[in-house]
Amino acid sequence: TKWVYNFGGGSAEGDTSMKNLLGGKGANLAEMASLGLPVPPGFTLSTDVCTYYYDHGETYPEDMNDQIAGGLKEIEKLTGKKFGEASNPLLVSVRSGARASMPGMMDTVLNLGLNDETVEGLAELSGDRRFALDSYRRFITMYSDVVLGVHHHIYEDILENHKDTQGYMLDTEMTAMDWDSVIKEFKAATKRELGKDFPQDPMEQLNGAVDAVFGSWMNERAIVYRRLNDIPAAWGTAVNVQAMVFGNMGDTSATGVAFTRDPSTGENRYYGEFLINAQGEDVVAGIRTPQTLTKASREKMEEDLPSMEEALPEAYAQLADTFETLEAHYRDMQDIEFTVEEGTLWMLQTRTGKRTAKAALKIAVDMAEDGQITTDEALLRLEPASLDQLLHPTLKPDAERDMIAMGLPASPGAAIGEVVFNSDEAEALKKAGHKVILVRVETSPEDIHGMHAAEAIVTARGGMTSHAAVVARGMGRPCVSGAGEIRIDYKAESLTVMGRTVKKGETVTVDGGTGQVFLGAVEMQQPELSGDFAKVMKWADEARKLGIRTNAETPLDVQTAKDFGAEGIGLCRTEHMFFEADRLGYFREMILAEDKEDREAALAKILPVQRDDFAAIFRIMEDRPCTIRLLDPPLHEFLPHSEADIESVAKSLGVPAGELMHRANDLQESNPMLGHRGCRLGISYPEIYEMQARAIFEAQKLVSEENGATPVAEIMVPLVSSAKELEILKGKIDAIAKEVGALEYTIGTMIELPRAALRAADIAEYAEFFSFGTNDLTQTTFGLSRDDAGRFLPDYVNQGIMEKDPFVTLDQDGVGDLIHIAAERGRTTRESIKLGICGEHGGDPASVEFCHRAGLDYVSCSPYRVPIARLAAAQAAI
Ligand code: ADP
Ligand code: MG
Ligand code: MG
Repeated sequence: TKWVYNFGGGSAEGDTSMKNLLGGKGANLAEMASLGLPVPPGFTLSTDVCTYYYDHGETYPEDMNDQIAGGLKEIEKLTGKKFGEASNPLLVSVRSGARASMPGMMDTVLNLGLNDETVEGLAELSGDRRFALDSYRRFITMYSDVVLGVHHHIYEDILENHKDTQGYMLDTEMTAMDWDSVIKEFKAATKRELGKDFPQDPMEQLNGAVDAVFGSWMNERAIVYRRLNDIPAAWGTAVNVQAMVFGNMGDTSATGVAFTRDPSTGENRYYGEFLINAQGEDVVAGIRTPQTLTKASREKMEEDLPSMEEALPEAYAQLADTFETLEAHYRDMQDIEFTVEEGTLWMLQTRTGKRTAKAALKIAVDMAEDGQITTDEALLRLEPASLDQLLHPTLKPDAERDMIAMGLPASPGAAIGEVVFNSDEAEALKKAGHKVILVRVETSPEDIHGMHAAEAIVTARGGMTSHAAVVARGMGRPCVSGAGEIRIDYKAESLTVMGRTVKKGETVTVDGGTGQVFLGAVEMQQPELSGDFAKVMKWADEARKLGIRTNAETPLDVQTAKDFGAEGIGLCRTEHMFFEADRLGYFREMILAEDKEDREAALAKILPVQRDDFAAIFRIMEDRPCTIRLLDPPLHEFLPHSEADIESVAKSLGVPAGELMHRANDLQESNPMLGHRGCRLGISYPEIYEMQARAIFEAQKLVSEENGATPVAEIMVPLVSSAKELEILKGKIDAIAKEVGALEYTIGTMIELPRAALRAADIAEYAEFFSFGTNDLTQTTFGLSRDDAGRFLPDYVNQGIMEKDPFVTLDQDGVGDLIHIAAERGRTTRESIKLGICGEHGGDPASVEFCHRAGLDYVSCSPYRVPIARLAAAQAAI
């Protein structure tokens, strides 16, 4: 079996298409090498090795070591150096790389191959002993931390002490002699911690590092990250072993990270940070303030330190060329790591760059308009769920505000919440229903859960590519990084900034788009839906086959949904119209009515109110179809329960409290979900549905006279289980229509009971449309109460009985089968029957895709999910 894949010197055994086998990093290093870009030579141990390792009790395939030796030979040939040879040592990095990028989750070891002898060889070769020692001390620190399990703080403390006694501020002030003595202390510390010497044999070092990478696939942080991001453990990681290039060889050497476009705004300009005379993760770690890449961004950010364009013009020009090559080749924005060794550029990584939702939108639109990709490709590149971020409010420009700190605009969006200083607490508070803002000096992979729980993240240290910034952008959380004026006191749980103190629990507002932090809650405003957003929505509308409607009943929601592009109302829940205080009284009167006469008197008071409600909706929707569901109430919810409430309601209704209590008890059901609800109410008390039908028809006429556009009223009868129910109720509604002289209307039903789905052929005799009420259909198909399932569903998901919460993502096997059956049987009776779904699933991209495949006519979802559904429907159709 082939376990090892070489790359370098203008060719490679792998390419981008081999991500599953070589991991993202390895596959792209191979691809870049084949493109002729300057990539230090190396080889990749495939993910098959990782799989083998865990399948065979953490051991390796027999023939692997020979292949590694072969890989090393190739690197030696291309570099002219020899691994472990004192006079001319080859040094390598050992890097993990899974299929999906897992930032910060796995650990990289640089400068491997250094020991007490090779370090002298490196010193001689480079003519720079200080550089060689700097590399050695980095290697000891990283290797001890990652491979040997000795915490890096031990080495950092030694270094800090040394710098203090010498009066140094920066690592760069350290001389060779300083490093000599620090390294001696480092080695002594390792021996003290482990009881044995730091390994001197390069082959032993290499094997140890490979072990550590494969081992880290199963570390806690990696497991958490995979869980949060739906990455299967079975994928495994690859290991890349690559010749070192040195960004720490003096003032013509540097290391940096870059994006080919701005990952925060999507603007088409190079974006990045670099450090002169530094290695690897110095940039990300925020030890020194990084410098900008381009002159333009240095000027914009008013930085003093020169940009790379100014400090290293030749290497910069080469880098800019490489950006163009990579974007043209990958046809997408790239996230790049590079190192300049004595003026020569080396590429160490490229991958499709993570970006904010805003940037994703802009980049997709720009690339489509430039003809680099098609509009279909542009649509497929957007994550429907991420549109959510664009639909939410930002700070109102003229709102009053009290700015307390300013950092980098690391991830856009605005959020309000209580300040909290640690991740466990952020998570706990979120669970208790609080909105929190996580404030840290800097974040690390141990903070993932806290960042996840937070509305926004603020750090005192770190740049645009710091851990906080990268992870927040990926999660879609607003983030302000490097707010350097903030002093955090973790013990006192407070922060001070410019003489002001903010304690845990105080409210702040964070604007990740500007990098500002404000004390208190700043007023927000609605998002901008024109420009790129409108373009993408237009392309989506051209591509999709499914109609998109909304579930809404208040004029505000209906208007919002229409602005978001809803083509009609798929579900207007009329019971929601009665929760408002002034209407509740009439409604209670109706419920409490002793007989038909009393009930009709109460209904007569409700009629004009309902008519106004429907008229308001029709006015907004103009000639779009509106599905109005007749009352489906849990009646007892409308009645008072506490003694005090009962007294006051009895008083206002003019009935004795005892009678009210009696009636409330009467209506109490032991299983209301399966009780006297839906059309069963209409069967018992037809006058309720008759009143609603009248209100709908009258409102329709009223609005049609006002503006000439006739909204199509689609009257929907809920919770039907047999054709007979619908036959009876349809008769009553039709009679009212005749009486009123109704305009255009249809009658249909919800399919939300398994029996209805199975008997769809009979039911379709009387129904002109079916709307799958997938919330109830999921409850009734599983026999699973939506209100109680929260307690045990996680066990079901954890134990793999269910893949996802079926109330969030449609159960395509079971509930989906019923939908298929009902659609097919319904169409046999009535070929033209209109089919749609309402329920939370209408806004879930995977469920939308299912509805497309099932051949439904439309999906209906809550207003803010309408754009998501439009895009998801387009993706399903492409
Ligand atoms: P991560 O996935 O956390 O980014 P990487 O393996 O990409 O980890 O490496 C960490 C850092 O080390 C990066 O800055 C990278 O550019 C640097 N690095 C990795 N390999 C080499 C090498 N062969 N020479 C110089 N720097 C390297
Ligand atoms: Mg790393
Ligand atoms: Mg990297």
